Amino acid sequence: MTETTPSLAEALGPETDARVVLVTGGGTGIGAAACARFAKDGAIIVLCGIDAGPLDQVADRIRDTGGTALAVTLDVTDAAARAALFETISKEFGRLDVLVNNAAIIGQAAMAPAATQPLDHFERILAVNLTGGFAMAQLAYPLLRKPGGAIVNVSSVGGSAAQFQAAAYCASKAGIDALTRSLALEWAKDGIRVNAIAPGDIRTDTTDALKSGWDSGVTEKPAFTRPTPLGRAGTADEMADIIAFLASPAASFVTGEVVRADGGFLIY
Ligand code: NAD
Repeated sequence: MTETTPSLAEALGPETDARVVLVTGGGTGIGAAACARFAKDGAIIVLCGIDAGPLDQVADRIRDTGGTALAVTLDVTDAAARAALFETISKEFGRLDVLVNNAAIIGQAAMAPAATQPLDHFERILAVNLTGGFAMAQLAYPLLRKPGGAIVNVSSVGGSAAQFQAAAYCASKAGIDALTRSLALEWAKDGIRVNAIAPGDIRTDTTDALKSGWDSGVTEKPAFTRPTPLGRAGTADEMADIIAFLASPAASFVTGEVVRADGGFLIY
């Protein structure tokens, strides 16, 4: 008799009624907070990104609190790795309910003076931040096609306002805003809602590193900085709450929307 290893779905039994949520860039910052938030709500979490260590830590934390998580190391620009990820999701869970397109090159790694930025750097930022999200959405589409299917793209205030030495980053996020509306229009008939969150200044390790570079004089500080009306930076958990809302039935009549979450940064 051939012995077969049960899939995670079989091993989980009735728990497979839980929503399956895929978060890209889920090992750190806003992505990690979103994973924790969806897991707290009872979802099965698939998180992916380029660094195995942080992904495993987030997955372990979810499992330690009784949840289910699968960490997959991948670069969102790698077509074969993307295809393998969706094969795994189909095989293990047979379903996907929510895609959170959060992975991005941000902070110092995304910065360059526009006059001299090498084109391959510009193109790499677009490939990860914009094309990567579109490719994930295309693969998710057949699984999400049902009532309750949702995509939440993580954009930025940089999609609608200029940021210092961030032409590629801002272009990629403006692209995400446009993509959000286009996919929402095209896939509404399939029951898929597509929305985005546009965070302002949110404290994560990546933005802390950027600011400490300014403070220590290692990197150039933007000439124009101003405080938010709320007088502070936001937190990753605050972003996770909005992402969870946009993916939930509570937002069932919201699609094609880009929700700004910036402490009022762009209102003046
Ligand atoms: P972060 O650096 O912690 O998150 C980015 C994640 O994307 C990381 O986990 C990284 O490993 C992953 N990633 C990068 N390139 C990848 C690739 N090629 N393939 C797969 N994964 C890749 O930073 P964060 O602050 O948590 O940012 C998360 C999201 O929020 C990003 O989309 C960012 O643009 C957006 N955002 C953040 C802020 C902020 O102030 N923190 C503001 C506006 C928008």
